[in-house]
Amino acid sequence: MSGNGSKILVIEDEPSQLELLSYNLDVEGYDVYKADTGEEGLLILQEVEIDLILLDWMLPKTSGLEICRQIKRGKHTKSIPVIMLTARGEEDDKVRGLDTGANDYIVKPYSIKELLARVRAGLRSAKGIVGVNMLTYEQLTMDLTSHVVRLGSQSIHLGPLEFKLLRILIEAPTRVFSRDQLLERVWSNALEVETRTVDVHIGRLRKQLNAVADGDYIRTVRGFGYSLDKA
Ligand code: CA
Repeated sequence: MSGNGSKILVIEDEPSQLELLSYNLDVEGYDVYKADTGEEGLLILQEVEIDLILLDWMLPKTSGLEICRQIKRGKHTKSIPVIMLTARGEEDDKVRGLDTGANDYIVKPYSIKELLARVRAGLRSAKGIVGVNMLTYEQLTMDLTSHVVRLGSQSIHLGPLEFKLLRILIEAPTRVFSRDQLLERVWSNALEVETRTVDVHIGRLRKQLNAVADGDYIRTVRGFGYSLDKA
């Protein structure tokens, strides 16, 4: 599950489509709210802090287009990403140009896999908009704006090179990076630096994390490199 309980509102009048979407989002770990008219969707938006909206273009009574405009005009709703769902042939320049204020659109019939990828991208971009720039793995969090690193409730003071190393590792937890890859990404143009230097700084990073962690967050792959992988 990747949804982490993000709240998704699905506004779609076709019952089978609504069920299919809700089911698949639910399986992914999202918290799904359903509406079969735009009016109902707007009511839900007043009561629940929604993270992303999937909005059908053709709705009875008020159209998806008009609903989208209202969402984007609302003080409390305008920053919620909206993905419009359109049937092939329905998509016109208004949707393509996204001048409805919609953040993205997807044409029916779509694959669920593609839709889920767009949902993840929408949620990620929304985080960027409000300026939250947080990377997390297990108990570890890295705030890229304030440069504060925490493990549980404890803050950890890292040197600039350890901070850079951790940032690379936390962006792809469990992926193993070779020492050369880390060297290239952290020290970029420094020709004099040897791969042993990577070991030294990983050693420092590990020591600082282990001082507060209840287990080792850094896995060493002998003769190759390192990953962020809690044993
Ligand atoms: Ca429809």
